[in-house]
Amino acid sequence: MSLDRYRSIIPEWAAFMEAAERPEPQVFRVRTGRISPEALRHRLETQGYRLTPLEGMPAFFRVDDGPRPVSFSLEHWLGWMYVQQASTGVAAPALAPRPGERVLDLCAAPGGKTTHAADLMEDRGSLVAVEVNDNRIRGLLGNSYRLGHTNILVVEGDGRDLPEEASFDRVLVDAPCSGEGTLRRRSGRPPNQSRRFLGYVVKMQEALLRKAIRVTRPGGTILYVTCTFAPEENEGVVSRVLADEPVELEPLALPVPHAPGLTHFEGKHFDPRLEGAARIYPHLMDSGGLFLAKLRKLDDGGAVSPESAWTPVHPVFPGDPRDAGEAERLVAMAMESLVGRFRADPGVFEGLSWMARGGRLWLHGAPGWPLGGWTPGPWRVVSLGFRAMEFDTKGRPRPTNDVLQWLGSRIGAGGLDLSDDELIALCEGRPVPRPEELAGLQALRWRGAVVGRGVITKEGVRSEISKAPAADLKGIAEGRGPASRPPADD
Ligand code: SAM
Repeated sequence: MSLDRYRSIIPEWAAFMEAAERPEPQVFRVRTGRISPEALRHRLETQGYRLTPLEGMPAFFRVDDGPRPVSFSLEHWLGWMYVQQASTGVAAPALAPRPGERVLDLCAAPGGKTTHAADLMEDRGSLVAVEVNDNRIRGLLGNSYRLGHTNILVVEGDGRDLPEEASFDRVLVDAPCSGEGTLRRRSGRPPNQSRRFLGYVVKMQEALLRKAIRVTRPGGTILYVTCTFAPEENEGVVSRVLADEPVELEPLALPVPHAPGLTHFEGKHFDPRLEGAARIYPHLMDSGGLFLAKLRKLDDGGAVSPESAWTPVHPVFPGDPRDAGEAERLVAMAMESLVGRFRADPGVFEGLSWMARGGRLWLHGAPGWPLGGWTPGPWRVVSLGFRAMEFDTKGRPRPTNDVLQWLGSRIGAGGLDLSDDELIALCEGRPVPRPEELAGLQALRWRGAVVGRGVITKEGVRSEISKAPAADLKGIAEGRGPASRPPADD
């Protein structure tokens, strides 16, 4: 649909159109659980990047200049940042999840807002990320593992079918929409969506929002978000829900420039409380577009889901044939390797647990999950935390590259420092000479960061970084950027 229909509602129309046609600046968020904004800024600026902190958005930087896109950097590959539109970075702080809470993201992939919420939760508590699209789940998993989040439980399924036996403190509905707010990726042209699509997507949005309300505990928060300007998908949906669901609209006081929600459009009237919603237009913060409405669940005297629906996380992944005793044995070996051999500070693992799956161990920090109360249905648990320990054919433990990177400087023992040429050689499968007396597993360090696992043999160091990440690292070392590209932010 043409943008012209918004002339009467968008303040400073000329500035809006001018911003819409201009390329959007690259912005990233620091993964604060892995590195401080100051330390990351320093690393990037010494490589020639010029960065500006975004006002009102802690841990966000705009890239004003640089030798190449930041997504080509080692720091990005290591999961120390997430390239994210400034506008979408407003959502997780508005949801305001706190460490230890139970949080649900009903439309999660590729995970910009899920991983932001996990970072705000300091990886403590349970964050359930639901996504219906199989392909997009891969992007969500890739981002969650890369950033090293330990409290994200990924569930595949249609958010509308989610069981209702367990309730959450906060629920995010970042609904599928007509995507007009992403117009700067198409030189100012909004996606070409039909009236028919609008009818379909509005029904989907309303059903997802109603589900979110049903699974929120009384007093809990629901944040409804779209990246479109169409009032039918924004105020229209929230207005209908306000009319008959036990919720109140909580006016948003965002720390960034925004316009209020609409109370009428093209002769239709919306609930007047919608003035407390927020509209972000591209010219207001030099970003994409976003709509946000925050709801508070009222105590309607209805049945509150029993606490028992939340159970402690099992030490064995659902469906895995292993028993708890076997899992315990693997964990003892894992700790012996990480603390004994790699001298990781044992305090690092406080509050974290292990889960056996497919002969490997996963590390996670979720104190509980809702699966105890969830009726079996068209949903599937895909992952929790990340894969941290594998075992070789002789049953000997081997920390994964993910856990070594996550531990980083918290590895106390040795570690092998590599030059650029040595790293490239290892990525090409060529051994690099090193004294044999260091024989055994080693953490490989490049440019001051642990990049993965190696082993020293008679021939020298061999990398145990698998093919695809090795190709990424080689590309980064040669200045071409990683061979694989992360999915675009939504
Ligand atoms: N929150 C994501 C982020 O910040 O990276 C972006 C989410 S995108 C706007 C909407 C997502 O909802 C898409 O990945 C889409 O596949 C998913 N989706 C659409 N219908 C769904 C449904 N019924 N249940 C769950 N997910 C759904």
